[in-house]
Amino acid sequence: QAKSAGRNALSFFDPEMQVRLQARARLEADLRLALPRDELRLHFQPQVDEGGAVCGVEALLRWQHPERGMVSPAAFIPLAEENRLIVPIGHWVIEAACRQLAAWAGDPRTALLTVSVNVSPRQFRDPGFVERVLAAVEASGAPPGRLKLEVTESLFLEERDEARDKMLRLRERGITFALDDFGTGYSSLSYLKRLPLDQLKIDQSFVRDLLEDEASMAIVASIIALSHSLKLEVVAEGVESEAQRAWLVAHGCRAFQGYLFGRPVPLEALALDA
Ligand code: C2E
Ligand code: MG
Ligand code: MG
Ligand code: MG
Repeated sequence: QAKSAGRNALSFFDPEMQVRLQARARLEADLRLALPRDELRLHFQPQVDEGGAVCGVEALLRWQHPERGMVSPAAFIPLAEENRLIVPIGHWVIEAACRQLAAWAGDPRTALLTVSVNVSPRQFRDPGFVERVLAAVEASGAPPGRLKLEVTESLFLEERDEARDKMLRLRERGITFALDDFGTGYSSLSYLKRLPLDQLKIDQSFVRDLLEDEASMAIVASIIALSHSLKLEVVAEGVESEAQRAWLVAHGCRAFQGYLFGRPVPLEALALDA
């Protein structure tokens, strides 16, 4: 193979790799059409308080592909981040979430619900991000205090001052922030006191192993204690069993999200009176 390489550079490619690259290129081409073809949907997963009442929802993106069926965000968000499609896609999510908030604002049974929206670092770093979020809130008439943006620790690895500045500008207008997948990133904890955060979300990997693993118990107990002392809300993600819920309650956690309370579902299937 090495001998022919000079004549034919393609022989460097392993055929399996080539198949993967082609599949990826097709997925990418399809993803570019997802917005114009109206193939994106939002699903909503309830977040509940200690008494089981729904206090908010997380908006989770779904791609209804004409041939592949429902594509999971794990399969296309990383791709959208690489090719910057996450900027228009992420904005579509924020607009859809704002429209939902505005629709709920008129009914006393839903007016206090929050909608949490995941924001990827690439989208957050886009120069027009703050203005576009504020424009979406204003155009929809959504109450800004009910919109919660979920960011991850990776956002604070670089450009901390810039990220902080953007957060402060949105916070000034009432928009709140959750730190998603908390405990899985690499950042130091010092940013917790510098950034205008409202909520920590305990990553589901810790919750999953909670009752079998001493280290997970110690980590979760510490995150709950930390959030209390920093006066941040804390939400446990990925709660699937009553035993996990009971442990979390006993350790001071007051808000939960997970299959135990409801899977992400289309709006029509969302049960708000749990
Ligand atoms: P995430 O923000 O941490 O969302 C929670 C994920 O955990 C969701 O997966 C949800 O369906 C799943 N989940 C919730 N409860 C349970 C449970 O009890 N057990 C288990 N095993 N899983 C549970 P999903 O919807 O597949 O989303 C995966 C990730 O994709 C999200 O993780 C988020 O990082 C990203 N994502 C989803 N929608 C968006 C979006 O609109 N924008 C961006 N940038 N990222 C998004
Ligand atoms: Mg999230
Ligand atoms: Mg998460
Ligand atoms: Mg995640």
